[in-house]
Amino acid sequence: MTARILDGKAVAETINRETAVGAATLMRERGVRPGLAVVLVGENPASRVYVNTKEKKAAELGFHSVKVELPKECTQDRLLAEIAKLNADPLVHGILVQSPPPPQIDERAVVLAIDPRKDVDCFHPFNVGKMLIGDRDGFFPCTPWGVVVLLQRSGIEVAGKHVVVIGRSNIVGKPLLALLVQKAAGADATVTVCHSRTPDLAEHCRRADVLIAAMGRPEFVKAEMVKPGATVVDVGINRVTDPAAKNGYRLVGDVAFAEVAAVAGAITPVPGGVGPMTIAMLMRNALDACRRLTE
Ligand code: NAD
Repeated sequence: MTARILDGKAVAETINRETAVGAATLMRERGVRPGLAVVLVGENPASRVYVNTKEKKAAELGFHSVKVELPKECTQDRLLAEIAKLNADPLVHGILVQSPPPPQIDERAVVLAIDPRKDVDCFHPFNVGKMLIGDRDGFFPCTPWGVVVLLQRSGIEVAGKHVVVIGRSNIVGKPLLALLVQKAAGADATVTVCHSRTPDLAEHCRRADVLIAAMGRPEFVKAEMVKPGATVVDVGINRVTDPAAKNGYRLVGDVAFAEVAAVAGAITPVPGGVGPMTIAMLMRNALDACRRLTE
């Protein structure tokens, strides 16, 4: 069997086109442009790539795009003051602070400082709570929501299916559970969440109709862990050393792609799977934030 490739890049482009139309409509009807502010503290190279990608995409979609760059020695007070300014800025509807911040920054305080109405990452406990109870007035977190929408738009039904998620982080694994278990379209799944303390991980994985790997371990999921015909979603983005590559590394997921593609029914690639969906859902959240804040 050779798995169908779930093309996240193509689905994300469709969503981005819809978002651009939504932004143009807001401009026409209310004279407002969605505004997204991305805050980068320090010099983490991967974070810089993510921030630049988000800034570029926002501009492409016709958004007002703001990048705030702060030095790696930036104090907590300075960062909170920048967030307060963005909270008060009527041209900014969505705010995100790129993770991870330098060690002197208390990430929890940062999350709490962002106005929940502008919390397009859906990290604020207020929005996390809304997501858990299935309230659509808040936001959904971009990566897990991207996974759900990618499955939906690729025609992969999860209702009544057994979904196994590997990873229980607050930004991927736990919200995936919350989204997939809802009584809602694109959900209604039976969900098992596995993590670093789960014995017999492979056994759980083999029972999955849909297996979602979000663990941050390069090519960990092997063919023998996958039920033939299952759908495999690879959230992982890992840099592995590759002397043959231009910058000395290449990106791989948490799934050993070639061997798993030989047994799975459908699979997401890395790159070009969940990554572009994450950015697309971020832009969608910023559009929704703008709509709500200018009603
Ligand atoms: P994390 O380190 O916060 O969490 C990893 C989780 O995996 C933990 O809950 C841990 O219990 C589990 N885990 C680790 N090793 C395990 C093992 N051997 N067996 C079972 N479980 C194990 O990571 P995260 O922030 O959730 O990110 C996970 C991966 O997804 C990373 O590669 C990250 O780069 C990637 N990611 C991608 C996107 C995207 O847009 N595609 C967004 C966010 C994260």
